Amino acid sequence: MRYSEMLLPTTREVPSDAEIASHQLMLRAGMIRKLAGGVYSYLPLGYRTIRKIENIIREEMDRAGAQEIFMPAVQPAELWQESGRWDKYGKELLRFRDRHNRDYCFGPTHEEVVTDIVRNEIQTYRQLPKNLYQIQTKFRDEIRPRFGVMRSREFIMKDAYSFDVDEEAAEKSYNVMFEAYERIFRRCGMIFRAVEADTGAIGGSYSHEFLVTADSGEDAMVYCQSCNYAANLEKAEVAAPEENPIPEQDMLPVEEVHTPDVRTIEEVSAFIGVSPTKIVKTLIFNVDGKTVAVLVRGDEDINETKLKNYLGAGSLEMATDDEIMKVTGSPRGFAGPRGIRCSLIADYSIMNMRNFVVGANREDYHVKNCNLGRDVAIPAYADLRTVRKGDRCPRCRGEISFARGIEVGHVFKLGTKYSTAMNASFLDRDGKEKLMIMGCYGIGVSRIAAAAIEQSHDDDGIVWPMSLAPFQVIITAVNMGDGELSKAAENIYNELITEGVEALFDDRDERAGVKFKDADLLGIPLRITVGAKRLAEGNVEVRFRKTGEVRVIPLSEAAGFIRSTVDEETRKIMA
Ligand code: ATP
Ligand code: MG
Repeated sequence: MRYSEMLLPTTREVPSDAEIASHQLMLRAGMIRKLAGGVYSYLPLGYRTIRKIENIIREEMDRAGAQEIFMPAVQPAELWQESGRWDKYGKELLRFRDRHNRDYCFGPTHEEVVTDIVRNEIQTYRQLPKNLYQIQTKFRDEIRPRFGVMRSREFIMKDAYSFDVDEEAAEKSYNVMFEAYERIFRRCGMIFRAVEADTGAIGGSYSHEFLVTADSGEDAMVYCQSCNYAANLEKAEVAAPEENPIPEQDMLPVEEVHTPDVRTIEEVSAFIGVSPTKIVKTLIFNVDGKTVAVLVRGDEDINETKLKNYLGAGSLEMATDDEIMKVTGSPRGFAGPRGIRCSLIADYSIMNMRNFVVGANREDYHVKNCNLGRDVAIPAYADLRTVRKGDRCPRCRGEISFARGIEVGHVFKLGTKYSTAMNASFLDRDGKEKLMIMGCYGIGVSRIAAAAIEQSHDDDGIVWPMSLAPFQVIITAVNMGDGELSKAAENIYNELITEGVEALFDDRDERAGVKFKDADLLGIPLRITVGAKRLAEGNVEVRFRKTGEVRVIPLSEAAGFIRSTVDEETRKIMA
């Protein structure tokens, strides 16, 4: 490609509405342009990278035995009503009507459509397993689209769906996808981690997210230094407490203390003069319309995802003042477990506490020296709090670390959620009708482009891994006005094309400095500089974007050198 002919509008200024590096650089390098909030066009350079990502995904999905299909973006409401998601999906689902007043949505995901296809076309176990995938535009009316194509409303996703005869086969399909994902993200040159993720309350399901490590990532993860345990923060388990002996401390008599207008843990701690570790927090929730009190140690936080899953709840919210008044007989801030009129569960963190402080269920009062067993009966203990620094690995008790990441992929064993709702069944070997066991597997194609930049850039611009680079090499002719020089550059360009190298020929009538700056901004891994001085010696310079290393290569060997460097870099990524 000739630079002079390409639509490649680079800018020097940092766009003011772009907060993170990848968003700024994608705009500055002329990869994307915004059409509306969270809706972007890909210009030629940007789309070349998208195609690279798609091709890696295609190759690995095909290798894993999945079959590519292409489903409509526009989906009829009836299918979503059948699965129950028309009402549940909320405002992220873009809904509209056609001229006949029929309801439709623009697909945010395709479980309904693919399940409809499969239930119509597959009747017996002999036709299973199947794994169908597509690469397609999705729309989700995100409440806070941001970071460019990282979290946009319209985006490109690869989504795959597996259908199996039983649990064992479904697990195998899941593992095949898991391994394909590892290959895909490795080939994209990214540093990533697969972490256990939340599945909500779907029975028999499990899930992993693939997070690219980046400080700007929206997801928090926890991983073990000693074993391979890694989980999304909202899913990360806290080890059940070992059976510590209860502290050798006598139970003291319960004492009510006047604590006027003292409500939060910090206020109680300061007023009574005890550490938050000696206080039990009573949090009151509305769980599917019922009031539930949850106890946790004063210095810990309840993880609402864990709580929701533990209770198998559909909805979970903090209780209102009225609800609190109803079960405690007091306004907010004085709730405690003694005599509370609702069901009670406790996090493991309070298990071995002695003589602790709780709210008195009476306005402006707390209670000192409360004790489990004597004053409060706990029907159930569970792991309900958020992991934090200092916790041990739930698998091996090793040291855990925290990191941030960008979710680029998600594998999810769905079980029979959709096959039940939509009656996707088949006749098994024994002639009995059974439900298909499903899995779904998503990759954010457009998000990968942004995540790769987030992970690999410097002050001068993008630093593409060879596999995602829009061009593998850029030929910078230092002075196009010099006939001999421009001829030599043109020759190298033609040789590279013959070698099958993806080359961009910077044939613009620009100053060398401008061309070098653009080459760095675009992040093309290799640059051939054709300049008068080296040319007089019969040489050109090859510069590596990543390291800044410069090699002087004879003109006649330049194309061959680039070809073998590209091959080597590609191999290195896979090793
Ligand atoms: P997130 O938690 O980031 O909203 P999600 O759990 O909603 O992601 P999935 O429904 O599993 O995502 O979608 C599969 C993949 O699609 C994600 O792993 C992510 O890479 C990508 N993706 C999801 N939402 C967006 C978005 N708004 N913009 C770009 N990519 C997205
Ligand atoms: Mg989402």
